[in-house]
Amino acid sequence: MAHKDDSPNLDTLSMLDEKGRRHYVYPADVKGRWSRLKPWVYTVLIAIYVALPFVHINGHPAVHIDIPDRHFFLFGATFNSQDFYLMFFVLSGIGFSLIVVAALWGRLWCGWACPQTVFLDGVFRRIERWIEGPAAKRKRLAEGPMTGEKFARKALKHAIYLVLAVVISHVFLAYFTSVDKLGAMITEGPAEHMGTFFWAVLFTAIIYGNFWWFREQLCIVICPYGRLQSVLQDEDTINVQYDHRRGEPRGKAKKEGVGDCVDCGRCIAVCPTRIDIRNGHQLECIGCSYCIDACDEIMVKLNRPKGLIRYDSQRMIDDGKRRFWRPRVFIYIVAGLVGLTVATIVMSRNDPFEANLFRNQGAPYSVHDGIVENSARIHVVNKRASSTTFHVTVDPEWADHVLLPQREVTLETFKDFNFPVMLEIPVAEYRYKMTVVVKVTDSASGVSEDVPIQVLGPLHPPKADSGKER
Ligand code: SF4
Ligand code: SF4
Repeated sequence: MAHKDDSPNLDTLSMLDEKGRRHYVYPADVKGRWSRLKPWVYTVLIAIYVALPFVHINGHPAVHIDIPDRHFFLFGATFNSQDFYLMFFVLSGIGFSLIVVAALWGRLWCGWACPQTVFLDGVFRRIERWIEGPAAKRKRLAEGPMTGEKFARKALKHAIYLVLAVVISHVFLAYFTSVDKLGAMITEGPAEHMGTFFWAVLFTAIIYGNFWWFREQLCIVICPYGRLQSVLQDEDTINVQYDHRRGEPRGKAKKEGVGDCVDCGRCIAVCPTRIDIRNGHQLECIGCSYCIDACDEIMVKLNRPKGLIRYDSQRMIDDGKRRFWRPRVFIYIVAGLVGLTVATIVMSRNDPFEANLFRNQGAPYSVHDGIVENSARIHVVNKRASSTTFHVTVDPEWADHVLLPQREVTLETFKDFNFPVMLEIPVAEYRYKMTVVVKVTDSASGVSEDVPIQVLGPLHPPKADSGKER
């Protein structure tokens, strides 16, 4: 149990002492319904994180963000740099989803699904407990002199941390390089791939430093989502709350006229940010729910109802009233739905290929033997996740005037090709701003795109028999 002297000072951040020095936190272990559920949630989330670069959909990784080539593979869909504007909708959709979650359930994301919590609580702290023992023993070990045992335990812990940091950083890199390429790079050695090696070392150092030393500071000091909570939440938001009406005044279990809180400090001892939730909801609370389980343990021992600390709204705690739907929730949900709908429509319309007209360099046109001549190329990019064959055709009415030396090509994903196009319009038929349409068809999807080519020529074409060349 935590000593009362060890309680956080309300004049400073909970993890700082009066001089601004950091209190390193050694949260105690706890068992309860939420803490039993957490390892399952963490396992699923870590499995998804590790699997996404390995699992292939339509022949490509489920998620592959190829920045150098500006090719993006997302769950079977393919995008290139021209589609980058879609990121606005994707990011705003994710952003609004997190805002809705924060308005309704506070820091549910932070306590249960944020990678910082998942890896720190689900992996690194578990290893620490396994090697160094429970909280009190860990603290004694850290504060005690260097001994053979301390050295051995610390060395083992840091060696495992380092290996994990290397693995996590390489999985992260696999999102950007693909697993196959990363495997080849590892085999060929760092000297061949200094750029990727630099990022691997940097990510490893950040992950190792964060999970070994920085820990809860990231949630409290750096994370912008944590800073925004105070404006996203209101008194109807469901958070981890202490029921002060039931708990106060605090006092010994057998004392007359006191509330249910026996002031045991167990809720502080298990808190990973070292706060006292009985002082009200605080910005350092990441919603991990461990204090709920800790207090429930005490209540069960005292034969009192569980839930002195529980998920509830401030309004319910203060006035016994619950209000789920309120204006801000409607506004957030409507904004989120608009973003999601637009993103879905735009992404579902994502074309399977791109076809753009490029004029050849040099003279835009020439007039030769009574013929206005233009040459250009139609640049086609295959944006499908698999190879496909493209055809170029022209309406029969233009067939005599449009030369297509190559009418068909098969392209792999994100490969491109320039179809040459030559226009030969007799001067007698030439009209200023006349347009010829070339159709590009993807044989796999059957999707076609018309590429209009405006015929360039003189404003006042010479007589058909002049033969003047420009
Ligand atoms: S107050 Fe409770 S829910 Fe909040 S961080 Fe501490 S233990 Fe977790
Ligand atoms: S709220 Fe519960 S765990 Fe916290 S001090 Fe009171 S009785 Fe103990």
